[in-house]
Amino acid sequence: MARIVVTGGAGVIGSHLTDVLLAQGHEVTVVDNLFTGAKRNMLHNRDNPGFEFIRHDVTEPLLVECDQVYHLACPASPVHYQYNPIKTIKTNVTGTINMLGVAKRTHARFLLASTSEVYGDPLQHPQVETYWGNVNPIGPRSCYDEGKRVAETLTVNYHEQGHVDTRIVRIFNTFGPRMLFNDGRVVSNFIVQALKGEDITVYGDGSQTRSFCYVDDLVAGITATMGKDGFMGPVNLGNPNEMTISELAKKVISLTGSKSKVVQKPLPKDDPTRRQPDISVAKRELGWAPKVDLEAGLKKTIADFDERLRRGETAR
Ligand code: NAD
Ligand code: UDP
Repeated sequence: MARIVVTGGAGVIGSHLTDVLLAQGHEVTVVDNLFTGAKRNMLHNRDNPGFEFIRHDVTEPLLVECDQVYHLACPASPVHYQYNPIKTIKTNVTGTINMLGVAKRTHARFLLASTSEVYGDPLQHPQVETYWGNVNPIGPRSCYDEGKRVAETLTVNYHEQGHVDTRIVRIFNTFGPRMLFNDGRVVSNFIVQALKGEDITVYGDGSQTRSFCYVDDLVAGITATMGKDGFMGPVNLGNPNEMTISELAKKVISLTGSKSKVVQKPLPKDDPTRRQPDISVAKRELGWAPKVDLEAGLKKTIADFDERLRRGETAR
């Protein structure tokens, strides 16, 4: 049994991670400011004696005792991380320093949830961990992309200078139950629009690609990375199954049986053209690969959204 801190544990990936860690018999302290997370994502754990929630902003120092830190706190959707870009940078820089400080003081193992966005609009395809990326330092996505790049640098520096046992995972587009209705990312937008019979909003001509990973697979990859001795990463975690956004729209319409029609909206500035993880390192070092195919993952996510919409869920 380990004492584990999960920052961002009220969010999509963090709440599923918390469930897995509790089921394994660990004690979990979720640290979250509830910006894009929700209490309802943790309510089912309320009576578990191993579970604790601290409403806390990681940009402020925190004193906790623990054996492991999973540092996930950061809004992940472009809509939310661009809402207050300076705050996003503070979360990634000051927040990561604070949580690395916790790991250093308590000799805890530390895992940073980084992102495929460190590759920017990639000129190499698929993306391998040794690729340095193609990132605009002054664009609308920079607060997140550059913030995560500094977070990676800090993590490596705390390892080398501060002797913290660190890991970096680079997460590619991940989806699943519990995404906010207004999350703004493509999978949740399309599902909500399809279920409500609203227009499906494809940005640009829909030819840009992404590779979508189901949250359970991603969580398995994260825990495998934390569990492996002497492995720092960075390691790509994602599903290499690449598709265009237009194809995703068709898939969601067919799985929901929706009568929604597809409409085009302007493509956001600096929207990456292609993205696909090379997961050779994860396969070799962790013996990890995603198991849930897109259709199965979408079906589970659609069922979750459908149930929440029927229930009239509005509040967080
Ligand atoms: P999410 O928005 O659902 O969860 C993020 C959580 O962090 C939320 O609960 C939010 O309230 C919390 N948070 C944000 N700022 C905070 C702060 N200053 N202090 C404390 N808590 C704060 O997003 P997610 O999809 O679960 O992503 C989790 C992590 O994985 C993020 O770090 C994200 O950058 C990374 N990631 C996710 C994806 C993806 O496709 N889901 C891809 C790449 C990287
Ligand atoms: N996208 C879209 N319609 C939407 C939301 C997003 O066409 O309603 C596109 C977006 O422009 C991008 C892709 O879907 O090309 C993935 O967007 P998301 O915000 O989910 O993630 P990211 O761009 O960070 O990978």
